[in-house]
Amino acid sequence: MQPISIELPHHNYSAIKKTGLVLCVVGFLFMMMGLMEVSRSNPVMFFLLSAGLIIAGALVFILPQLKESPAGIKHNRLFFLSATSRGLLGWAAAVFFTGFYVILYWFPQYLENLIRTTDWLSFIVRGKAADQWFLYGFYYTLAVIVMGIRMIVKNRHSRYQIIRTCSVMFFQLGFSFLIPGLLQLFNQPEFYFTYFWPLKYSYLFPNDVHWLMSQPGGLGTFMIFWGAIMSFVATPVLTYFFGKRWYCSWVCGCGGLAETLGDPYRQLSNKSLMSWKIERYLIYSILVFVVITTLLLWINSVTQGAMFGSWSQTFSSAYGFYIGALFSGVIGVGFYPLMGSRVWCRFGCPMAAVLGLIQKYWSRFRITSNGGQCISCGNCSTYCEMGIDVRAYAMKGQNIIRASCVGCGICSAVCPRGVLNLENGPLEGRYNLGR
Ligand code: SF4
Ligand code: SF4
Repeated sequence: MQPISIELPHHNYSAIKKTGLVLCVVGFLFMMMGLMEVSRSNPVMFFLLSAGLIIAGALVFILPQLKESPAGIKHNRLFFLSATSRGLLGWAAAVFFTGFYVILYWFPQYLENLIRTTDWLSFIVRGKAADQWFLYGFYYTLAVIVMGIRMIVKNRHSRYQIIRTCSVMFFQLGFSFLIPGLLQLFNQPEFYFTYFWPLKYSYLFPNDVHWLMSQPGGLGTFMIFWGAIMSFVATPVLTYFFGKRWYCSWVCGCGGLAETLGDPYRQLSNKSLMSWKIERYLIYSILVFVVITTLLLWINSVTQGAMFGSWSQTFSSAYGFYIGALFSGVIGVGFYPLMGSRVWCRFGCPMAAVLGLIQKYWSRFRITSNGGQCISCGNCSTYCEMGIDVRAYAMKGQNIIRASCVGCGICSAVCPRGVLNLENGPLEGRYNLGR
């Protein structure tokens, strides 16, 4: 059993955990070698050595925790570790993630050899050779699964965390990786049934709608119908009953990555009032941006360019570049090690803006707090990935009803006094003034 202390600036890994780390590093080196011409001679071997060693190493590193340390978040060394407190390793990880996204979006030719190592899998899943998005989808899913196992092991005392983590792993693997691939295998349009407008903005843009409707077999038309129903009917109804969490913490792939790969960085979210203010300005501005872009595109489509001409396309291209690629991709994940795991969800996602408005004004969801039991330890605020100062509410015994709360439940899981509860109750009396 390891001692629990915030005063241990040194590592004390067991031999087995060190072995796990070494395996991961070797797997990562094979992945880097996969970028080189040499991997062309035996791409499958490079794939197996890189992905296989990373998986094996991660499991060897994660699983001993079951015996070695108690369940739940441990502060041990967290604020001393370079990787989790914006030290050199944290910055190196940020540069790596950011650089990877920049190359993925704008210079995929440099990934060509690595992409070829996943060809064999792409042929099985999609019936065609891999491209940069297949490579990305594979490693994204791998990260969610492996780090999801870590999340389950770490939070094995909480049934909510176990089920929620299984849910994001299931939706990522099934609905964001396998089903879109199998649709292509059967000559159907690639489609993500768990992404909706305005997050997946193009699904209600005229180009996508016309293209899907032109597909033979009627499945394309069903996809448009599905997307519209999910955006305009299911989203408000489910958010009314369960709050934002039904999507952001249980289904969404972006949230899934944040909750798994991003978990080691959740304490880095800024809790200041200024960041709360910036969050509100930014996220609603982006929602307005995507609504205007969608409207302009449709007006342009219906009037055949007579009203806004190239304006709508300018809006659409700007949104795709600045928000779709730069913000949600490069910054959204690249900045995990610097600004916490939910940079995109907190400051940028237009779906979060919609869900948040419903959650705040028309939902049964709230986090109740028994202020009398709060000892002001601050664990809840520290580990809230959305930068909410949960303690401030808990100390006053107030219910926590914030548009940004994704219902991850970590504040409740880390509370040593059991003060916080995620609940779906009646609308009446939902806002309380506390003690
Ligand atoms: S905030 Fe947006 S991207 Fe993040 S989990 Fe929610 S819907 Fe997904
Ligand atoms: S308030 Fe609690 S449930 Fe909501 S986002 Fe923060 S940690 Fe998660």
